[in-house]
Amino acid sequence: MLERRGPGVNLVSTISYPEERKPYPPGYRGMHRLTVRPDGRPRCVACYMCATACPAQCIYIEAGEYEDQAIEKYPVRFEIDELRCIVCGFCVEACPKDAIRMDTGTHAPSVLSRPLAVFDKEALMKGPPVEHPSDVLTYRVPLRTVAPPDEDRGTGE
Ligand code: SF4
Ligand code: SF4
Repeated sequence: MLERRGPGVNLVSTISYPEERKPYPPGYRGMHRLTVRPDGRPRCVACYMCATACPAQCIYIEAGEYEDQAIEKYPVRFEIDELRCIVCGFCVEACPKDAIRMDTGTHAPSVLSRPLAVFDKEALMKGPPVEHPSDVLTYRVPLRTVAPPDEDRGTGE
């Protein structure tokens, strides 16, 4: 294992993997996750920006619409082919909703066949919920009709 201790100063050490493991450094781009809202729904609004930005074209999304929320869309299907992924992080940068992160601290597991490297929405939705103050704006508030005060009403007398 090579540790960088500064410009031109590297330290080579040996650990007994897999019994000993060294955590990845902060900022390591690991396995993707789809972040969830406090109510458990995905933060993703199926805008396709991550899939558009992905140079490896390894993100597949199918959008659906909520009937009762101003969050207009959500991913009915969201899949990432981790074998095609080149771990560039463009999808994270492109997302306007902080809905996709690579902060799991783990790498993609080895698999015995290619289809097993395709992770679906259920497999990707993990980790603590993510909230943002602007979230309140995305929930539709029922329209209320406010009656004018009595004195403003014309009595015709
Ligand atoms: S990290 Fe890069 S290659 Fe991988 S899914 Fe995101 S945009 Fe695509
Ligand atoms: S993860 Fe983000 S960028 Fe990708 S479709 Fe969902 S909201 Fe859009």
